[in-house]
Amino acid sequence: MFKKISYTLGLIIFAIFAFLILKNANLNNFINVVENRTFDLRQSIMINEGVKKHNEDIVIIAIDDASYEYILDHYGEWPLPRDIYAKLIDYLELQNPNIIAFDLMFVKSMKSDNNADLSLINSFKKYNNVFTSMNFDNQPEELRIPPQLPEKLTIDVKNNSKIDFSTLAFTNCRTILDGILENSENIGIINVSRSDDGVLRKMPVVVKYKGKFYPQLALKVGLKYLSDTEKQDIKGLSITNNSILHAGNREIFLDKDGSAILNWYGPAGTYTYIPMYQLIRALNGEKNALNYNFKDKIIYFGTTASSLFDIKTVPTGKVYPGVEVQATYVNNIIDNNFIRKADKSFTIIASLVLASIIAFSVMGLSSAFAASLVSLSSYFMYLLISYYAMRFGDLWLEVIYPLIFSILAFTVAFIVKYLIKSRDFEAQYKLATTDGLTELYNHRYFQEQMRMQVEQSKRYNNNFSLIIIDIDFFKRFNDTFGHQSGDAVLRQVAFTLKKNVRATDIVCRYGGEEMSIILPNTDKDEAYSTAEKICKRVAEHSFKLSNGKESNVTISLGVATFPFDGEDAPSIIETADKRLYNAKNNGRNQVGQNK
Ligand code: GH3
Ligand code: MG
Ligand code: MG
Repeated sequence: MFKKISYTLGLIIFAIFAFLILKNANLNNFINVVENRTFDLRQSIMINEGVKKHNEDIVIIAIDDASYEYILDHYGEWPLPRDIYAKLIDYLELQNPNIIAFDLMFVKSMKSDNNADLSLINSFKKYNNVFTSMNFDNQPEELRIPPQLPEKLTIDVKNNSKIDFSTLAFTNCRTILDGILENSENIGIINVSRSDDGVLRKMPVVVKYKGKFYPQLALKVGLKYLSDTEKQDIKGLSITNNSILHAGNREIFLDKDGSAILNWYGPAGTYTYIPMYQLIRALNGEKNALNYNFKDKIIYFGTTASSLFDIKTVPTGKVYPGVEVQATYVNNIIDNNFIRKADKSFTIIASLVLASIIAFSVMGLSSAFAASLVSLSSYFMYLLISYYAMRFGDLWLEVIYPLIFSILAFTVAFIVKYLIKSRDFEAQYKLATTDGLTELYNHRYFQEQMRMQVEQSKRYNNNFSLIIIDIDFFKRFNDTFGHQSGDAVLRQVAFTLKKNVRATDIVCRYGGEEMSIILPNTDKDEAYSTAEKICKRVAEHSFKLSNGKESNVTISLGVATFPFDGEDAPSIIETADKRLYNAKNNGRNQVGQNK
């Protein structure tokens, strides 16, 4: 019964705490931040173990510090005149690269030279594998009228999921050169997703502008790559109700805000970087300036120079160039290995399973050490599973909620176990110290208490008294009414004794039909009058017999007081016994006097 109540109480406490944890918004934010860190850690371990190999076909042409210096020295300005890009494109196209993508925006500029711009626009006309980027924002309309963008830049998305893309919807946009907008479809968006802790873990796949969907640059580049290498002709996208975006045979799992969680291949510098100045030198005919074959490569142009650098912090590095985020993104599309985060319902079920295993092992194992070991290893097993799920299944199983639930289950189970144990201990203690028939303290307890009273009274200079009681002619009583009635009378005498003494007095069954009362802090006179009172009460009392009839018994008593009648327990008992004997000799039903 008590066990059942304890288990139920434990379950209720667990449920209340679990509910509070799941409903507390601040705590959930904190948990998510820590959970994200564990994702970063898993990614870093995978990279250290060399699990994933990045795609060697992706190469970055970096406008790095050296290239920036070179451009200022040779052209005297930044941005680089656009005809140079046109020439670089022509130069690269000779080697038949798969794609040339610019993680740079060719915006309209006061400085731009019409002829130079025109030659770049021509490159976009001439080659269908050159891509560039654009960025949406939320600037107010009075600052800049939101431009109308060509219909060909949008993408058709059949959305059957709950994702509403409201956090990825924008109201304004800075346009790039009209000529590129008019003549090329190869323009992708490079907006990034905001992360709470500033770490870039995910990227939008499509964003919304004026109610229409626009694909990300990396998606466009990836789809172009698939159409060339796998002959997939992907016109539109569809999102299933389980938030998976289908692009041809590629599946991109979307987070609740519509972003894709990237799978990382390494720290900054994982991909091949070629400084742009080497390319410009090669273009200008300098021999040995650049020894690299661009055939079939996906070439990404981007900035890494400190003055131009767009720095991102990603799970695998604090300082990570934006262009390499693009490279990683395209690589994920090619490898079809975007991270899929397990549902919240899965997390809760996993947490509960783990909590149950831990609670049962704590309750079931007698050793606290063994229970702790089992609990720790259960959670460790789950950690391993979550690591291998990410390693082999690109699956992100949350680990912090299960950790909190495990700790909660462990604590509650220990409290319940302790409650049950202490209750068992109480029951055993009672069993060991009381007499079954009368429910008075037993002889052993009496002896113990006598020793303690002597010690305490010595230390504090107190008195204490002892009364020993014996039922008169009890043998005869048994013979007349039977043992059953004798037992009933014993119980009733015990009850009468208890009723007529103070709560602090200790009533014991000395043995047989003899009982004793220890009266702490009680001097001789008080003890005598208590004894007299008890003697009278018992004599007056009608005792119920087992056959329903009533009868009377009397008792004889002997009193002794510490320290006057003895310095230790045996001599006090001996004196009380002697006086009890006197009472018997003197006619019974009385308190024995000192002769
Ligand atoms: P006295 O007045 O001299 O004490 O006479 P007495 O008959 O009470 O003394 P004695 O010690 O000779 O007998 C004690 C009797 O108490 C013997 C035994 O049958 C009875 N008795 C002892 N323990 C129990 C018990 O637990 N139940 C019952 N029914 N009787 C008990
Ligand atoms: Mg006796
Ligand atoms: Mg007796």
